Amino acid sequence: MTKQPEIENELTKLPILEFVFFNSAEIIFAHEVRELCEGNSCGMYNTTWACPPAVGSIETCMKKCQAYNKAMLFTTATEMDSSFDMQGWLKARVEHEALTDQVADVFRRFDENALILSTEGCTVCKKCSYPDAPCRFPDRMYPAIEGYGIMVMQMASALKISYNNGANTVTYFSMVLFNE
Ligand code: SF4
Repeated sequence: MTKQPEIENELTKLPILEFVFFNSAEIIFAHEVRELCEGNSCGMYNTTWACPPAVGSIETCMKKCQAYNKAMLFTTATEMDSSFDMQGWLKARVEHEALTDQVADVFRRFDENALILSTEGCTVCKKCSYPDAPCRFPDRMYPAIEGYGIMVMQMASALKISYNNGANTVTYFSMVLFNE
């Protein structure tokens, strides 16, 4: 029996803006996305276990994703005072990651090996143990979607999820891969 209806029922209880299920074969990978990471466009490259190069090559990441047959992409959107509202950005991201923890709990009840991908870097520890010691909380360390070479903007468009939810609003994405 498919797990999706039961999972969807649980997800509707959470403050998710939009979510969509799809086949993992529909994930759009691009070397260009990974190259942006390697150019350190967000400043997190080589700083956490959740980002390249620690997550492995793009081929390794693709292989990990291909081990699952289903996927789900979801968003949160948070209004800020302005696009320069750094506290607002940070708060929105922390809230999104807390929600991602809840979504991870839902999926792991149905597939204990579900793979969770989220925003850039990792917000769990004040100071990441990378690269001197293993990750302290591997269950809560969600690799960055872009670090896996996934084109979030194109996927949002293909899956009819809003990439941008208006001026002075930050939209964050997470993705879950699981097996039915
Ligand atoms: S959970 Fe902690 S140690 Fe692991 S990647 Fe995140 S910040 Fe680093």
